[in-house]
Amino acid sequence: MDFVLDKFHEECGVFGIFGHPEASTLTQLGLFAQQHRGQEACGIVSSDNGQFHESRSQGLVADVLNEDELRKLTGSAAIGHTRYSTSGRNTIKEVQPFSVTCQHGDIAVCHNGNLPFAAAKREELERAGAIFSSTSDTETILHSIARTPAGTVIEAIEKVLKETEGAFSLLFLAPNALIAVRDPRGFRPLVLGKQKDAWCVASETCAFDLIDAEYVREVEPGEMLIINESDIESRRPFAEKPRSVCTFEHVYFSRPDSIIYGRSVNESRHKMGKRLAVEHPVEADLVVPVPDSGVAAAIGFAKESGINFRQAIIRNHYVGRTFIEPSQSIRSFGVRLKLNPIKDLIKGQRVVLVDDSIVRGTTSKKIVEMVRECGAEEVHMRISCPPTTHSCYYGVDTPHRQDLIASRMSNEEVCEYIGADSLGYLSLDGMLEAIGIEASSTCNACWSGKYPTLIANGKAA
Ligand code: SF4
Repeated sequence: MDFVLDKFHEECGVFGIFGHPEASTLTQLGLFAQQHRGQEACGIVSSDNGQFHESRSQGLVADVLNEDELRKLTGSAAIGHTRYSTSGRNTIKEVQPFSVTCQHGDIAVCHNGNLPFAAAKREELERAGAIFSSTSDTETILHSIARTPAGTVIEAIEKVLKETEGAFSLLFLAPNALIAVRDPRGFRPLVLGKQKDAWCVASETCAFDLIDAEYVREVEPGEMLIINESDIESRRPFAEKPRSVCTFEHVYFSRPDSIIYGRSVNESRHKMGKRLAVEHPVEADLVVPVPDSGVAAAIGFAKESGINFRQAIIRNHYVGRTFIEPSQSIRSFGVRLKLNPIKDLIKGQRVVLVDDSIVRGTTSKKIVEMVRECGAEEVHMRISCPPTTHSCYYGVDTPHRQDLIASRMSNEEVCEYIGADSLGYLSLDGMLEAIGIEASSTCNACWSGKYPTLIANGKAA
């Protein structure tokens, strides 16, 4: 977990491109744009006329995939991955893309999502003699493909994924094809773009903006795209299931400049803020966002309420890497390592703080304290999603349910714990209306507790 800011974490970002002479450079840039989806490790596998080249390591994209590494990653097709995951160990062996040579030739894969039944599958494969090199759930897919006696690698991928439950936005690189697959419920996002004659696929559209690619459309839930020299083919190999797209992408994970599920994330957050002001009005002098993810909602709140908007808390973006394993002495500086208030703006003011979510409550408590120490007369907390009461099993790093403050305290108790004068959460209906999406097409389990699938222990909650 992020040791200062107390948030859910997206576990991965993916990018792939086929048919471009600078495939690995564009993949590096696509990953760089999606660095927020994972900062622990990253990697690229490229294909040069069927010859695979690989580079992967722990660290940030700009450090790991530097010019020297890119020079080795020749070829016109590549896939890449940024990783946050806590599913599995944090060693070099867990860094994706994974690649193997098997009866179907060379295959590489990278994954955004979570396969809740992978542990059972792994045991079955190990009993049958498989040797795993990582603890990642993604490796079970590669082993299963390698053991599938299908005619082609595409048929093997199709067969294995038809039997795979869970959340997956997957990119495969075969010697002459890039294959992109999104699970039938579409938990995690995946988008298709075009850079001149080359097709590209990414978790978020912000990756396309950086490389001057055009956003074409979402890869649909349940869709498998096969991209090769001559064509792009769309298949629907899975039995149809209701959509369960992750709502939290619009609340926090995705960049505001991305289009997710066909909708601007910035616009969703702005509307969440407006709706929050209607649902939880308050008399105050200033609306202050908790940066960065609270900014768009705070602007919406200020616009709807007519209260002045000021960016009175400044965020240091570099601290997460600098103190990746912080010592106790550094931890004691707490939230100030990342957030610093502008005292002159806050002193004597009735402040509305707007944040995207409260997870354990520890950060919110410190932010309220910090704002009070600046001389605020009142501090009102407004949250642009409902109380987060349940853990995620679909590719997001979350604390255990008992550590989520809203799972064990009422809103009044949370308000008292964080030391605010008032606390208001956006309603589930308000949040979904702001995102412009039907409740029945979403996963909103971390607020509602209604999981759209069975989870690993065989229960639905
Ligand atoms: S439980 Fe559902 S809505 Fe919540 S983070 Fe996970 S996928 Fe997203």
